[in-house]
Amino acid sequence: MPATKFFCPDGQEVPISGCLDGCRCGTRCMFLPTLRAVAKSSDRKIDEPTVTELISGSRETYLKKTTEYTIDPESALYALQGQGIHGIHEGFIDGDILSEVRLKDGTTSGKFDLYGQLLDEDTGCLGDLKVTSSYKLMRAMGYYKKSVPTGEVYKTGARKGQQKYRQELFTDGVKYVMDWAIQLNYYRILLEQQGFEVNSMYIQAMCRDGSLRIAAERGIDKNIYIIPIKKISDHWLIRYFKHKAKVLKEAMDSGKIPKVCSSKERWHDKKCLNYCDVADYCDHGLVVRQSAQKKVS
Ligand code: SF4
Ligand code: SF4
Repeated sequence: MPATKFFCPDGQEVPISGCLDGCRCGTRCMFLPTLRAVAKSSDRKIDEPTVTELISGSRETYLKKTTEYTIDPESALYALQGQGIHGIHEGFIDGDILSEVRLKDGTTSGKFDLYGQLLDEDTGCLGDLKVTSSYKLMRAMGYYKKSVPTGEVYKTGARKGQQKYRQELFTDGVKYVMDWAIQLNYYRILLEQQGFEVNSMYIQAMCRDGSLRIAAERGIDKNIYIIPIKKISDHWLIRYFKHKAKVLKEAMDSGKIPKVCSSKERWHDKKCLNYCDVADYCDHGLVVRQSAQKKVS
């Protein structure tokens, strides 16, 4: 089931069709074509679970498929940015490159972004386009911050005699790209099932806040990064996707909500708090949001 309602800036809910017919506030919160694009982007017409749906928590995907939920058009603009990047490539894909083809197997379906000769002589390169934050890029690049002693001590005040520290950026950390790697590797499997050879995989990640000081402080000093993605075992991936598809199908057939998304899937509750469109229909999401409200008041 797609999102059926928008949150207006004053917090009121309005049916999307009603909003597109006429704004209840008199003046729209954004241009009508932008609202139409947001509405279209949330109206998916694919029945089988997609690769991205199966990577998300089963509960989140189940609720999105079974609930008439409400979205904030402003938050949905990030998804439109990603679609815009795909749009600018249209018309520049020559005959040797495949783009945005939806492939499926008995478990799932997925639409890869680019396949062919993308970076060098390799004609079997699978590429994915991302628009993301400097925070996510910092983690994907393996950058992290750590307190290091400055060699000086406080000369006065309550901390007199204590060591002074400063935050320093290091670039030798773990590269947090697992979700991207799982997604791209399953597209690889889908391509290989069709007889295409995939020799290399890369993410081309554009930084959406690249001009801000916070990005520079995170070591993100370019607007675009090419990130290599390693091969993941087919055996593991196929088992993982089959399991996720089974959990989702059982929930859809029985109408019983799946267990709470794993801590990783719910970004250790950050997603429940701010980024999950169906949190209002999830007991865990409601608890997380209510306890955050209590802390503020
Ligand atoms: S245009 Fe914005 S303010 Fe007007 S009804 Fe739609 S969501 Fe609400
Ligand atoms: S609120 Fe959290 S636990 Fe509930 S569906 Fe959303 S991400 Fe999953």
